[in-house]
Amino acid sequence: MDDYKTNDFNEQKKTDRKYCQSCGGEINKEDVFCPYCGAKQNNSQVRYMNRPKERLIYILLAIFIGTLGIHNFYAGYNKTGLTQLLITVLLGWVFGLGVLITFIWVIVDIISVTQDSDGVPFI
Ligand SMILES: [Zn+2]
Repeated sequence: MDDYKTNDFNEQKKTDRKYCQSCGGEINKEDVFCPYCGAKQNNSQVRYMNRPKERLIYILLAIFIGTLGIHNFYAGYNKTGLTQLLITVLLGWVFGLGVLITFIWVIVDIISVTQDSDGVPFI
């Protein structure tokens, strides 16, 4: 009887443990900061399911092929990217108007967008 209880308790304890995302040390599930290396832990798993995107890649995509909306596809803003792509493709090659619109839009994106469509900040 007592053995069963002990095992049950140990099992419960195991599920309260997790591993530090930085150094891999075993820490408490509730720990916000790793007691070994001090790294901040992601406790809101649902919101931060995706890996952070790199801002440098976002900006480079925006500079070189931003008028096609590629940087927005990269950051998960698929509708915005598609809109920019359509404006450029449909209006762009006729009077250069579409490219001008999306070019200005892209500059605004580069300056103002600092997180992806899931709210995960760029790194
Ligand atoms: Zn750690």
